[in-house]
Amino acid sequence: MPYDLLLKGATVVDPSRNLSASSDVAIQDGKIAAVEPSISSDRATRVVDVSGKYVTPGLVDLHVHAYWGSTYWGVDVDPVAARTGVITSVDAGSAGAYNWRGFRRFHIERLKSRLVAYLNISSIGLTHQTYEHANLYYDDVDLAIETASQNRDVIVGIKVRLDQNTIGHNGIVPMDRARAAADALNLPIMVHIGVAPPPLAEIIPRMRPGDVLTHCFTGHSNRIVDRNHNVRDDVQRAWDAGIILDVGHGGGSFSYPVAEAMIRQGLLPNCISTDIHVSSIRGPMYDLPTTLSKFLNLGLSLSEVIERATINPARAINRADSLGTLDVGREADLAVFEIVEGDHEFKDVDLISRRGTKRLYCRLAMRAGTILDPEEEGLPL
Ligand SMILES: [Zn+2]
Repeated sequence: MPYDLLLKGATVVDPSRNLSASSDVAIQDGKIAAVEPSISSDRATRVVDVSGKYVTPGLVDLHVHAYWGSTYWGVDVDPVAARTGVITSVDAGSAGAYNWRGFRRFHIERLKSRLVAYLNISSIGLTHQTYEHANLYYDDVDLAIETASQNRDVIVGIKVRLDQNTIGHNGIVPMDRARAAADALNLPIMVHIGVAPPPLAEIIPRMRPGDVLTHCFTGHSNRIVDRNHNVRDDVQRAWDAGIILDVGHGGGSFSYPVAEAMIRQGLLPNCISTDIHVSSIRGPMYDLPTTLSKFLNLGLSLSEVIERATINPARAINRADSLGTLDVGREADLAVFEIVEGDHEFKDVDLISRRGTKRLYCRLAMRAGTILDPEEEGLPL
């Protein structure tokens, strides 16, 4: 039996297997059939020449807002997937228990790309721009447990946004509610940080190994570095113990001075995600390839940035057995990238600018052997 499709001539970058080498990739029945240094063209029905490009596992974006049409921040992620290679989006708490069923039926189950989600501990999710924990009646632990228990196939954790505005006058209580639900479910929490209160000193002791701290390069008052740009001791200890630092660039959460200080000290984030939403998609975040390009130009290798957008986020959501890898036999989720050399300008959320010589562009996106076509998908807003 010939292969359905052969991607020929690229460099395959698959950090899940420490692979970065020129290889051909064969696809059969929607699955990865072979990854070998050379596979003959006459063994496949269709051959795509991808020489000079890079084949990676389908990207996994750990922080997106995908509840288009029903929540403040949501974008339609299929057009994003087709253009960026983000085959799996992990929604960061757009839905809570009250509006979960619409999210599942009209988004998760209907998309061409993959979508899983952190359930917001606030039952109203991100219907409004903020204040979702200002009324503690919404932070309903029992209802969150019931909803997540019934949707274990696609709910990967509990989300809580801890920020001056989101909490109203409720301090650290929303975090304690999220903790109670997550512990009962044996799922991790994704914690959003930004502006205190509550202060980081109250948040960090409530986190456990496997929990995700998103917006780790925020320049706001809850930033994880001190005045001298050294990582705070409490964050360092929690990180050593196994909490996961995630970028979540967004519209307000990526500061070049903070990121550069961390990287200078050899401290790299575990996951690089976008926090793509109605505003950040218009820039200076734009998309995951742009965000990864910022880290490429900060000195990380291509393998290091791809690892942080494939196997590392797959591990964070306990899906490393099915996502973030090009292992033979897995569903053929993959992306083809080109690195365009030139004089590129990138900006952080304060419009501090840096120049770089490399920029990643996605040239092909595939879920389970099916190519996602940007022309067909329309626009994400
Ligand atoms: Zn977000």
